[in-house]
Amino acid sequence: MFYTSTRDNTVKVTSAQAIAKGISSDGGLFVPTEIPKLSLDDLKRISSLDYIGRAKEILRFYLTDFTEDELDMCVNGAYKKGKFSSDKVAPLYKLNDRENILELWRGPTCAFKDMALQLLPYLLSVSAGKTLKDTKIVILVATSGDTGKAALEGFRDVPNTEILVFYPVDGVSPMQKLQMTTQEGSNVNVCAIKGNFDDAQSGVKAIFTDKETEKKFAENKLAFSSANSINWGRLVPQIVYYVSAYCDMVSAGSIKLGDEINIVVPTGNFGNILAAYYAKEMGVPVKKLICASNANNVLTDFLTGGTYDKNRDFYCTASPSMDILISSNLERLLYILSGYDDSTVRELMSKLASDGRYTVSDKMLSDIKSLFAAGYCDDNGTKRTIREIFEKYDYLIDTHTAVAVRVYEDYAEKTGDATPAVIASTANPYKFSASVLSAISDRVESTDEFSMVDELYKKTGKEIPVQLATLKGKTPRFTGVAEKSEMPAVVLGMLGL
Ligand SMILES: *Cc1c(COP(=O)(O)O)cnc(C)c1O
Repeated sequence: MFYTSTRDNTVKVTSAQAIAKGISSDGGLFVPTEIPKLSLDDLKRISSLDYIGRAKEILRFYLTDFTEDELDMCVNGAYKKGKFSSDKVAPLYKLNDRENILELWRGPTCAFKDMALQLLPYLLSVSAGKTLKDTKIVILVATSGDTGKAALEGFRDVPNTEILVFYPVDGVSPMQKLQMTTQEGSNVNVCAIKGNFDDAQSGVKAIFTDKETEKKFAENKLAFSSANSINWGRLVPQIVYYVSAYCDMVSAGSIKLGDEINIVVPTGNFGNILAAYYAKEMGVPVKKLICASNANNVLTDFLTGGTYDKNRDFYCTASPSMDILISSNLERLLYILSGYDDSTVRELMSKLASDGRYTVSDKMLSDIKSLFAAGYCDDNGTKRTIREIFEKYDYLIDTHTAVAVRVYEDYAEKTGDATPAVIASTANPYKFSASVLSAISDRVESTDEFSMVDELYKKTGKEIPVQLATLKGKTPRFTGVAEKSEMPAVVLGMLGL
């Protein structure tokens, strides 16, 4: 299997090269040149395996330049017993006959990003060993909150790596901020950026393609890579849990092998739902991919109307990890749906850069509409849904998951589609205690994040994840705040160059 760039079809690299580099030098994203197929027999066979076994089976389709031993080392390291608070790693919780919650937040940082970021360091160190001998990898991360912590935790003290995280100064929750600024490890650095997530992300992208920095890096035997979902090594682990969820639906007797499911994903950068698209294209029977957005509903408009337009107000919502106006991974979908046409992608991406908007062809829009449904929900709807689900099922969901549940229920009501749904649950509710607490309680007494955790526990009796409970009282190690324009200098400073 080879990988090419969404902006240049003459690029041809192995998976190790794609993962080690992170982003193609033409600014495009790496994509496999074909999508491997799973038969129902494959699905049946995979169903009998545990999560580690399932992960290996899916990864081997995409990482054909990895040896069996390397794949074993990667999946065993990432998903070993004890790292996730469920032996199933990504368990399904059956809410009712239609709604199945895929709990993707059982990892060390309580957010779904762990699913990929526990594996990525292993994939990256194997990839670097194959392609960049004697070079230290510098991981640059722009985060809307959860990626930063999950990447720091995944990469901490991994030999031959250095990790630098940028987050929007007012764009993350106090809990997320403290999780990052108290990070331990000898190869980690964290800096706040004056701006929003898109500023942090475009700043990181600019550094990646900056010729001066590249030269300085080469002289010092350093190479950039990315832990954002633009890295193929972030995306491929996410395909696994959709295949796994389908297998679990069959095993639980919720569906028969071959029956269709719907998949609902609370979406920001379009990485998680793109992984679901890959699972569908591989052969998992999926009827609709349902893209759920918050008030930043640029994707709802695009998937239903064909025009992507980021020229709109940016809202800071109760689901901050989805407060994004430029969804990077959409580029991969555009590339595939244009028939692997790099010139179409170049044209659309240059329109996005110059005008902030583009419109796709009627053909592409009709393909999109047959694959995807889309909807959005504001903060009131989010909180109402948290309360309803808690009162009805005694099950507590976070704000991001609530957006997905609300959009799914609206979709099911509007269309009458009764296909059982797998709803991606992307964070533990205690990560967003303030919003969750105000959703289920008419009068909140606490004023700081940690007393809210305790108050939420008193009101619901739901277990507080130990890694959040022990944050209280820790002193931040990283307090820097920089302008976006200072990012290149901050990076060089952190690396002592
Ligand atoms: C990152 C994140 C999302 C959005 O996922 P994308 O892959 O960026 O679409 C949703 N919910 C939570 C809690 C997240 O951390």
